[in-house]
Amino acid sequence: MHDGAILAMTELKEEMAQLELPLLIEYGVLTEEKEKALAVYERYQHSPAAVSLLRCYYSDLPEAREEMAVDLKIVASRQGSDLVVLQATSHDYLYLHSDNQVLLLGEFKDGVEDESILHYFQFKNREDFWEKTGAQAADLPSMPVPEAPASPVVCVACGVGIGDVHILGCPVEQCPWCEAQLNRCNCRFDQLGISAIEEEEQLERFELLLERKGRIPFKAGHNPSYPTAGDDPLPFSEPS
Ligand SMILES: [Zn+2]
Ligand SMILES: [Zn+2]
Repeated sequence: MHDGAILAMTELKEEMAQLELPLLIEYGVLTEEKEKALAVYERYQHSPAAVSLLRCYYSDLPEAREEMAVDLKIVASRQGSDLVVLQATSHDYLYLHSDNQVLLLGEFKDGVEDESILHYFQFKNREDFWEKTGAQAADLPSMPVPEAPASPVVCVACGVGIGDVHILGCPVEQCPWCEAQLNRCNCRFDQLGISAIEEEEQLERFELLLERKGRIPFKAGHNPSYPTAGDDPLPFSEPS
């Protein structure tokens, strides 16, 4: 290969590294395995270590095989570093992972050559490695999957938390008189005895009546299951 081709390859590799992992997976696997391969990514997506390993695997498929990653197995862990087997459809690859840096050591069946790596993970030698890990990657424990970060429940439209009163005009707020959508029902006109809200003073008077009646605070179940409520106009947020 001449220099130009090598440069182009390097640029391509750098571009690949920037690609989102799901895209890399779609490019890297056979069409019929795409869904299963993406499901593996989804299972591990909250584990930075697993994502680094999958990214390394899919950005540089060993021997350019189109095999999907089936699972990630822990061989040994020590002080934030892990020896991990990436099980592909018909090959098992051994990786060293440390501080989100990932190094492909080779196929799992060949074991670990490097004595310093063996010693670091407290294997006496290659025989000890096989004795302790067993020859079957499938028998090793899978990498732990952290829980998805819990997002606090808030009103989809105005963003207040559970038990809080909505921002006036929020389409999720329930009317305390008729229990319909407060920004849609006619209670504001009935309560004020007018046919249209035209002045800020009228809006303030309505807010007072509303508070006297008792506003219905946001409850988790109030959020519509379809996210369209937020697109509704806010009829009394900007009185004209
Ligand atoms: Zn709201
Ligand atoms: Zn009403």
